[in-house]
Amino acid sequence: MKIKDIEAIVVRSPEPSIASAPSSLIVKIETDEGIAGIGEGCTHSESDEASFAAKAIIERGFAPRLKGEDPLNIQKIWYKLYQYSEWYGRRGIAIYALSAIDIALWDIAGKYLHQPVHKLLGGKFRDKIRVYASLIFNMDDPESSGKEGRKYVEQGFTAVKYGWGQTWEKAFGLDADRDEEAVRIIREILGPKIDLMVDVGRMVNWSLPYAIKMAERFKKYNIYWLEEPLPQDDIEGYIMLTQKSDVWIAAGEGEYTRWGFKDWIIRRAVDVLQPDVSKAGGLSEVKRICDLAYMWNMMVVPHGFSTAINIAANLHLVASMPNASLLEFRRTESPLIYKLVKRPFEAVNGYLAIPDGEGLGIELNEDVIEEYRIDRR
Ligand SMILES: [Mg+2]
Repeated sequence: MKIKDIEAIVVRSPEPSIASAPSSLIVKIETDEGIAGIGEGCTHSESDEASFAAKAIIERGFAPRLKGEDPLNIQKIWYKLYQYSEWYGRRGIAIYALSAIDIALWDIAGKYLHQPVHKLLGGKFRDKIRVYASLIFNMDDPESSGKEGRKYVEQGFTAVKYGWGQTWEKAFGLDADRDEEAVRIIREILGPKIDLMVDVGRMVNWSLPYAIKMAERFKKYNIYWLEEPLPQDDIEGYIMLTQKSDVWIAAGEGEYTRWGFKDWIIRRAVDVLQPDVSKAGGLSEVKRICDLAYMWNMMVVPHGFSTAINIAANLHLVASMPNASLLEFRRTESPLIYKLVKRPFEAVNGYLAIPDGEGLGIELNEDVIEEYRIDRR
């Protein structure tokens, strides 16, 4: 079997919040045996520029190096493209592009061998995974945020996360009293038993002493974790914050490859590590990151806030992890989550089932791709 063609598609859907950054890159790899694989790079950026840059990397850089390769040589291809990515900086957009290709190759391998991807990753530890409903703060009306989360609790979810805000001006994190009040209101509406996560996001930049103070203020609402309270580059700050804070600290969605994650793991910079398969290097690399984190007995809850392809890849990943206990499940309105695949993912009593179909186990709605693709206009 040989790789025949690679298509990089930029999709964008209308979103209620700029934090849910609508653009993503979908990759289709076709083989000479008629098997096609699907992958995704989480190329969120407000003006879609990351998606178009990743598309250019794939079409001009990666595709000529992929054509004619046996798609089952996933690791050989991974290392070949990673090495070539030095021209793009070995991180960021280059690795989004590599992530999309890697996921598509695993999808091809599963379809070729008539097995779900998790079997090729070594088999599954579980048939389902607890998920948290991942939502965006409405800081103008925290009560409506609370009610939105409550809707998922009534469906059986046991964990809900709120993050960011709907606009830069109305971001969470701008005002200590207002932030605490929002968390208080939401906790009251969700009730005491629900795991409630708070994601500061990157619309604000907190300093270490400020983050320590805020973690202390949120402690009385028994939050499950505080996510990205510091800038993504401030690993020293994270190390100190994680040591000082009684509230768990989570981060990692902005890190790439095992080399990027190495220090976060061996220095125990966070309590909860959040690599993203469609950002950090695909299933191959995030599996390696998870294995490294396992050596340090670190909790890993993969990040995922893009499309249903990302959810599928995440499910195969967590199925294969010995210590996975929780996964992000984006629940904001988006056709890329709810309509992109023929059988959209639905949680049952707060759990998502591990897909058992061949490859990633998903089938795309081509008409939805056509409706939302923006790279042909
Ligand atoms: Mg986050």
